Amino acid sequence: MAQDKEDSQLKDIVALCKRRGFVFPGSEIYGGLSNSFDYGPYGVEILNNLRKLWWKYFVHRRDDIVGLDSSILLHPRVWEASGHVSNFSDPLIDCKSCKVRFRVDHFLDEKLGEGFTVGKTLEELQQVLKKENYACPNCGKSETFTEARNFNLMFKTQQGANEGGTMDIYLRPETAQGIFINFKNIANTSRKKIPFGIAQIGKSFRNEIMARQFVFRTREFEQLEMEFFCEPGSQKEWFTHWVDYCTNFLIEVIGIQKESIRVRQHEKSELSFYSEETSDIEFKFPFGWGELWGIASRTDYDLTQHEKASGQDLKYTDQSNNKKFLPYVVEPALGLNRLFLSVISDAYEEEKLADGETRTVLHLSSKVAPIKIGIFPLMKKDGLGEKAKEIFQTLREHWYCEYDESGAIGKRYRRQDELGTPYCITVDYDSLKDNSVTVRERDTMKQERIDIQSLKSYFIDRI
Ligand code: ATP
Repeated sequence: MAQDKEDSQLKDIVALCKRRGFVFPGSEIYGGLSNSFDYGPYGVEILNNLRKLWWKYFVHRRDDIVGLDSSILLHPRVWEASGHVSNFSDPLIDCKSCKVRFRVDHFLDEKLGEGFTVGKTLEELQQVLKKENYACPNCGKSETFTEARNFNLMFKTQQGANEGGTMDIYLRPETAQGIFINFKNIANTSRKKIPFGIAQIGKSFRNEIMARQFVFRTREFEQLEMEFFCEPGSQKEWFTHWVDYCTNFLIEVIGIQKESIRVRQHEKSELSFYSEETSDIEFKFPFGWGELWGIASRTDYDLTQHEKASGQDLKYTDQSNNKKFLPYVVEPALGLNRLFLSVISDAYEEEKLADGETRTVLHLSSKVAPIKIGIFPLMKKDGLGEKAKEIFQTLREHWYCEYDESGAIGKRYRRQDELGTPYCITVDYDSLKDNSVTVRERDTMKQERIDIQSLKSYFIDRI
């Protein structure tokens, strides 16, 4: 896809999200806070649907996974032990002239080709910068960059109100560590035997050098993570299982098109220091392929570190043979906001119609769609409004529905198309006589007459 087309597609999606109340720019009335976003009435419905679907698929449908909701603020020693204090950083350069900051790996990958910087040390990146002597892409000045340095991505704050009695703590940059430090609690109370997993949904914070591409990369975001604890030696098998299971979730449960995702295995030089093996499920975003879901084989790194740093025994005892060991861990880590952007961009279409008009439509799966059924009276008057409201009251007991009586009927359909509503019902004058209504299906725009009494079973079969 040509760059201009890609950029304009993202712009169209951002515009739709604002126009229809999915996503608003954060702190907008104060001029905005760079790359922060607020989810409006329809956006929050989609986020809730995605959370529920993930939780059902990863927790309720399985015997070997339980849930957790750990704190965002953890003891600072957690992040020392996990390696985040010393290693959770990205390479940074500043333009001394215009003060704009760049992430060196992204900057050089854009100049020299995707993957150029993989496995290169900070010193090697600095040498390339020196040799190529690039001008600043923002102000155009040459010889203006600072030396490359590592920038820690954790947000630091203070806990405690007493002067001198405060403690530096961090906002968590991932939910995973809250799971590791609760491993023993859950192993002792949940009656789960290894192999088993712990799932958690929650906010994470990273002081990204360049937050960009709408909700793809923000400083505050939400993660859906699961740590799967297994016997050393079995991790390879579980790793393959989780890559397939996650791929299946995106295609079968969420309804993302097969050709919009791919699995990319990390090369050895690219692996994080704790990882034995990593694959990313990438999505074809309007700006190109990007990581949506990272699946990492983390060995026993995290538990070993927390055992050493806390002095607590975190080993698991297999009751069948009294074998005591630190489990290995396979982690599928998904970003909720990237999943949101994936489903919206995958569903987005500007469809040319037979009459020469164009309609914007979101082909969302009915499980993900914010509203399941739109209900309209053809006119407010003559008892049509009352009849439509009666249907609305009955159906809203089962599905999230929207009643809309204002504007031309065609405009009301178009609005629901942009919201991704799979079905609309129209009550007309014939409805008063034959007790039936018109049901319109979003994708085909086909309309059929359905008896009001049969509406519930009609939608049970379809939603
Ligand atoms: P990236 O390489 O894109 O920075 P990562 O490899 O650091 O991502 P992980 O630490 O594996 O990401 O986090 C798991 C998931 O959390 C990612 O696959 C992504 O979906 C999501 N995620 C990570 N950072 C952000 C962010 N700044 N904004 C939104 N989502 C994010």
